[in-house]
Formats: sequence, structure tokens, C-alpha cells
Amino acid sequence: MELIIDFYKNMDYLGPGSIDDTKKALSFMEFNFETLKVADIGCGTGRQTETLANELNAEIIAVDFLKEFLESAKDRFSKLCKIDDFELLENFRFSKLCDIEDDSMGANLRFSKSRKKYSKSIKLLHANMESLPFKDNEFDLIFSEGAIYNIGFKKGIREWNRFIKPNGFLAVSEISWLTEKRPKELEKFWKSDYEEVDTIENKLLQLENEGYKLIAYFPIPISSWENYYSNVQKNIDSFLKRNSYSDDAKEFINKCKEEIAIFKKYNKFYSYVFYIAQKI
Ligand code: SAM
Repeated sequence: MELIIDFYKNMDYLGPGSIDDTKKALSFMEFNFETLKVADIGCGTGRQTETLANELNAEIIAVDFLKEFLESAKDRFSKLCKIDDFELLENFRFSKLCDIEDDSMGANLRFSKSRKKYSKSIKLLHANMESLPFKDNEFDLIFSEGAIYNIGFKKGIREWNRFIKPNGFLAVSEISWLTEKRPKELEKFWKSDYEEVDTIENKLLQLENEGYKLIAYFPIPISSWENYYSNVQKNIDSFLKRNSYSDDAKEFINKCKEEIAIFKKYNKFYSYVFYIAQKI
């Protein structure tokens, strides 16, 4: 875990995805309320949280179980808000509050301590996605980009369902097969990491079985993977140096390189797919 934290904590991208992918996922949802409550589960260093804050008039609770990633997210938001001071919330063991206001173009976000004045906020919550301290029907949107695999897609969509208001939305990205048949080498590589990799068709069935109506789905483009992997590659030398070229660090990097090689060879067979669904 320490190596994972060290490798990723200063990175913008902790997995394949982009601002445009997050925006596209949001574009399929229509909300009835002016101010929304949103959970961003497995927020990492907050890349997509920033986009959610820019795009939605929402109170966002960004959740991760790694404090180091939340600290990086906090730094990101404090730069965004041009502040270095966060309020502490009483209810959470580790949580910070940043109230922000969009300017007319949605470009600059400003900090304010007066919560009443502004309807946008981001709270960072240190919690495990397997035991979230949320109430039933609390959220208009549960969002999770490249992270639901940590609990498993089936368990995640089932357990998070109760936190969503009726007619509220679930938007998750999940690695999925794009074709009916795949090369054995590819299946072996991804299945050894994550048993639940499956076809889009089967993921849609699972959503339906758990009480969701499908709104849309789309595979993220190859450019979102390439951007992520180019950031990974840029990080390799400094990571190895920091970790004195230890065997564990080299093994970690070999695994990254193997994943990139698999991607270059087989990317037409799989991708992260965004699934946008509505709670019935
Ligand atoms: N959504 C971010 C992004 O796309 O940049 C992060 C994606 S990263 C691949 C997966 C994230 O899930 C990491 O930040 C990791 O710390 C978090 N995570 C893994 N297991 C978790 C758990 N059980 N509870 C909460 N967060 C978890």
C-alpha cells in the first residue's frame, strides 16, 4: 500500500479518465432540484471531484480510504479556492469543508466561510466504501470513477442503491469487455486482477437486476487511457529513485509496464465504460 500511495499521491490521474469523460457522464442526467447532494466515492486526489464541483450546483462529499490522497485533494481544492484554511466538520473523523462559488463563466472558484451564501461545497470524508456512514435516500447522485472495482461492481451497485433518492442517479465507470470474444492472454491478465471484468451486456443486466433503469453508457476514449499512461510513465524514474530501486518498487513498476503493454496490444477489446443509471 505504501508504494501505491507514494506513486499516486501527487498525480492528477489515478486511473484512465478525463474531464470530458466526467462531463459527458453528467450530461445524461436531468435533476429536479437546484441544489444537489452528491457522493464521489473513491475520489482519489480529486480530479473528477473538481469537475463535479464546476459542473453542478451541489454539496459534494468526496470519499476515500487513503488519507494521503485526501490530503492531495485538499491541496487541490485549496488552490482552487485560493485558501489554505479548511473548516473542520464535527460529524466526520477526518473531514474538511470548502465552500466555493462559481463565477459567471464557471472558471474561478472562490472560498467563503459563509455556508449560507453559497450552495456549492466539497467535504472530504475518510471512509471505507464498504461501510459508508450515509443515510437512506440521501443523495441525488452517487458518482464513482474508476473505483467501484474495489468493492466489486455487483456489491457496489447493490449496497450504494439505498443511499440514492428515488429517481436519483448512479454513475460509475467500470472496466468492461467491448467484444464477445477476447484473446486468452488479455482475459488472464485482467481476470487475475479483477474477477468481475465482464461484457457491457452483463453489466447492464446486473444494473437492471439491482433496481436501476439504464440511462446511458459509453466507453471512455483511447485518449483517456493514453493520457493516464503517459502520466504513469513520467512518474516511473523519480519513483524508483525515491524508493532506492528496491525489489518491491521494481516489481510495482513492472506490473505497470505489463498493463501498458497489454493496453497497447489489445485496447480494442476492453475499456472503462461509464454506466449512468437511475434508481427506480
Ligand atoms: N476516482 C479517482 C480518479 O479517477 O482519479 C481515483 C481512482 S483510483 C483507481 C481508486 C480510488 O479508490 C483510490 O483513490 C483508492 O484509494 C480508493 N479506494 C480503494 N479502495 C477503497 C475503499 N475500500 N474505500 C474507499 N476508497 C477506496
